[in-house]
Amino acid sequence: MTNTNLEFKTEVKQLLDLMIHSLYSHKEIFLRELISNASDALDRARYEALMNSSITENDGDWKIKIIIDKPAGALTISDNGIGMTKEEIIEALGTIAHSGYKAFLSTLQNKEIKDNPELIGQFGVGFYSSFMVADKVTVISRKAGTDRNNGVKWESSADGFFTIEDIEKEKKGTDVILHLKPDERKYLEEWEIRGIIKKYSDYIEHPVVMDVEREKDSELKKGEKVLIREEETLNSMKAIWLKDKSAITEDEYNEFYKHISHDFSDPAKVIHFKAEGTSEFTALLYIPSRSPFDIYFKDIKTGPSLYVKRVQIMDHCEQLIPGYLRFVKGVVDSSDLPLNVSREILQKNHQIELINKNITRRVLDALADMKKNEYDKYLSFYKELGRVLKEGIYFDVSRREAIADLLLFQSTQRPAGAYTTLQEYIDNMKEGQEGIFYVLGASREEVIKSPYLEAFNDKGYEVLIMLDEADDFVMSTLQEYKGHKIKSVIKGDIKLDRPDEKEKEAERKFETLMALIKEQLKDEVKDVRLSGRLKDTACCLVADEGGMDPQVEKLLKSMGQKTPENKRILEINPSHPIFEAMNKIFGKDQKSAVLDEYIKLLYDQALLLEGSKPKDPAAFAGAVIKLMVKEAERVS
Ligand code: ADP
Repeated sequence: MTNTNLEFKTEVKQLLDLMIHSLYSHKEIFLRELISNASDALDRARYEALMNSSITENDGDWKIKIIIDKPAGALTISDNGIGMTKEEIIEALGTIAHSGYKAFLSTLQNKEIKDNPELIGQFGVGFYSSFMVADKVTVISRKAGTDRNNGVKWESSADGFFTIEDIEKEKKGTDVILHLKPDERKYLEEWEIRGIIKKYSDYIEHPVVMDVEREKDSELKKGEKVLIREEETLNSMKAIWLKDKSAITEDEYNEFYKHISHDFSDPAKVIHFKAEGTSEFTALLYIPSRSPFDIYFKDIKTGPSLYVKRVQIMDHCEQLIPGYLRFVKGVVDSSDLPLNVSREILQKNHQIELINKNITRRVLDALADMKKNEYDKYLSFYKELGRVLKEGIYFDVSRREAIADLLLFQSTQRPAGAYTTLQEYIDNMKEGQEGIFYVLGASREEVIKSPYLEAFNDKGYEVLIMLDEADDFVMSTLQEYKGHKIKSVIKGDIKLDRPDEKEKEAERKFETLMALIKEQLKDEVKDVRLSGRLKDTACCLVADEGGMDPQVEKLLKSMGQKTPENKRILEINPSHPIFEAMNKIFGKDQKSAVLDEYIKLLYDQALLLEGSKPKDPAAFAGAVIKLMVKEAERVS
């Protein structure tokens, strides 16, 4: 095969289309992306050379060279790194590896991108961003350690196709040649390139060089100047995380964050520290202000990059941070680990465990600090990522309380949009209140009207509102906070008052009626009892203490999951006149058809109130209309 024409995968065509037609701002980031790819290629070559020195091909002077060719209108980014084989280049520059990316891309509309370029920026637009400024891109590459005639030339004009050609390439590595669009020729100006590199790539740890013309004193004729071309390094190469905190500006911190995260927004918090003692390392970590798009994807790459003495070992080291903090981005540079540390070794490495412990604590402390001192910022972080953080309640038993301190909740006693913490809830508890109560629902409006809250409202007890199904799980895992039991208003036998004479009397009074109801509904409910939570509503269904919330059950069912047979308990409100009336009928005729029908109706209503549907909606509607007709006939 010498010259082959190949078609881009659909998602690449889509991406290129968006890139070319929708992204107008921040075009200069193409250079950051290409330099970053080149730098990764150098990192990989340097790392692999540790195991196999022959791949350096006697050129271990790792660098990235920018070449400006004004007459040709071309800008080249060249590296002497790992390079690509023909198969690799077809795969890398013809498809998009990230599966979530494809899915996300297909949901985006051009218009949306145009208004919010950061939507696409957050994935790292990568190599394809070249086409924002170039109408044709040529990539020439050869894999390090292979023969010189194993070179490959890739070329495309972003018209849906690319060509592949076998060529000779003397030096290992990759040249990316951008044939700039006529109105993007400013990227051939030396000062423009200098500025962009200073802004976006200053901390790249490999030199980014360019040949520049400079006046110099002539060595031949004293007093005269001559023009020479000389290679100059454009970046300071100082690893930002190793610099002194006081020498780093907020802008520099933010730029570095954007570089590693591909996020367009500034981070919510920067955590930069040096640990000494049993484990020596430097960490520069960031808490984002927005949720990364792939936070719930299975193939998300998590964890900060791991460096050992400034040499990058891996891009994402997931062992460095627990899953519930997977939104944290950054760099960890260790002085203790061996350079050739492998993924297998990392799995059970003591040093890594120590680092993980240390940074987990730092991140939780930083969040606590943010909550205390920068509440608005914390609130917007929490709305974006609180759901991920909450996973820690389940997965990190040892830090359960610290994580619980970070939780925020809406409540029945706060206006919509205002939040409370568990500590504030406790401080707001009424005299004699036993427990922290919560209710789960689909929306605040619906929950507020729930009959399950009647007795709580009556007593002035605050109830936390949970709008996320995962919350039920989180709260049942948490069980208690600072010695106060956490209870769902819809589960267990809730008695806000101690049982008194009145209740015992009611129990005696309705004993036989309740037995009848229980007998009639024996296939539907587990038990029938007097309710401690209703004031105005006649009856409701509740779950056992450890049972499943009906909202959660509904969710699981909608996802096609089997839920355990989960019969509820029917609670009746002894002070409601309907039971008084039913008791009278019962006294007269235990077999009354009216009783029979009322019991069915009460049960169906209770189903409606918990958000379920009557088993036989037609029968329910029929029974209601019959009652309406009867009443209409009576009053007319
Ligand atoms: P990303 O860098 O996020 O993976 P890109 O689209 O920028 O996405 O690049 C795709 C792939 O192409 C890279 O993962 C890498 O395998 C390969 N690649 C790009 N540039 C180079 C380069 N200069 N040297 C070697 N491989 C490269």
